[in-house]
Amino acid sequence: DPTGEPEGILTRAGPGYEPGPKGTARINATLLALVRNEELEGMLQAMRDLERTWNRKFNYPWTFFNDVPFTEEFMRKTQAETNAECRYEVIPKEHWEMPSWINRELFKESTKLLKEQGVQYADMVSYHQMCRWNSGMFYKHPALEHVQYYWRVEPKVHFFCDIDYDVFRYMRDNNKTYGFTINLYDSPESIPTLWPETLKFLADHPDYIHPNNAMDWLTDKVRRPDHNEKANGYSTCHFWSNFEIADMNFWRSKAYEDYFNHLDRAGGFFYERWGDAPVHSIALGLFEDKNKIHWFRDIGYQHIPFFNCPNSPKCKGCKTGLLTDGEPFLYMEDCRPNWFKYVGMG
Ligand code: GDP
Ligand code: MN
Repeated sequence: DPTGEPEGILTRAGPGYEPGPKGTARINATLLALVRNEELEGMLQAMRDLERTWNRKFNYPWTFFNDVPFTEEFMRKTQAETNAECRYEVIPKEHWEMPSWINRELFKESTKLLKEQGVQYADMVSYHQMCRWNSGMFYKHPALEHVQYYWRVEPKVHFFCDIDYDVFRYMRDNNKTYGFTINLYDSPESIPTLWPETLKFLADHPDYIHPNNAMDWLTDKVRRPDHNEKANGYSTCHFWSNFEIADMNFWRSKAYEDYFNHLDRAGGFFYERWGDAPVHSIALGLFEDKNKIHWFRDIGYQHIPFFNCPNSPKCKGCKTGLLTDGEPFLYMEDCRPNWFKYVGMG
């Protein structure tokens, strides 16, 4: 048991352990999915996996977000997969739409170039909007105003291992800010000016840098010097953010808010294709104590094409120790060795 928690903890009520409707002791958290109506089948499959391996024991609510209203079918079928409460939220236009200061012509020209360089989804406006929303908007939605922790879930992902403890409670009791399963290199072509903009921001706000930061992980150039060079000083290593278990108080901090606003004004969510994964990861690596970042080695997870597959009898359906389905080329995409080198296994 990675938490070292005694059995039967669920029924223990205590300070801050608000009893759930069935006498459980849930804390202030939600499962969270940004998803399109067309992705219903994939969402149901991901829900089935997570409900079977974990949430049926805890019944944390699900909160679904969409830029358009959910269909009646989407709501009915997702609610049928869980005993927990489901909430369905529309994203306010001012959180989703391309900001007024983005030059539409420049957007078109830049994304055409990005596409020629092979940057995936470069010419899809909604993909840029999604990355920006996941970077700096989701936790500002009124539906999450009083919620502290979330577990991000995407349609079509898989969960392989039985998890018998409350991961949100683990986060809180161990004072963790962020939990990940997979750590990867990014495509440097999607973020050429993200690190230079970050350095500009740091020059104005050196006080935001945490003394126990993960700067050496962010700037490593030993293993993949080509990536560091093309990303202008950033290793491109990032937590793969389609899976995140995290404390929204970090995103709500002044340091992160100022950082996000700086990046948002710089325009790279649109003129380049900055992802929420590198943005979140850089902020965590700079402004947070690296010991508050937790590798959930015990959560078997897949988002195509990568896995986190623990060696444990609790896991079924994935191949232990492999990052991919045996594709040797993709193995180079794994940045976990660097995380362990600079930060450790904790
Ligand atoms: P990838 O994982 O980078 O290939 O990107 P995905 O297509 O999986 O998108 C990431 C997440 O955002 C998924 O949960 C999608 O369902 C969601 N998403 C992406 N674009 C949109 C959109 O335009 N509207 C909505 N509602 N969800 C979106
Ligand atoms: Mn995805």
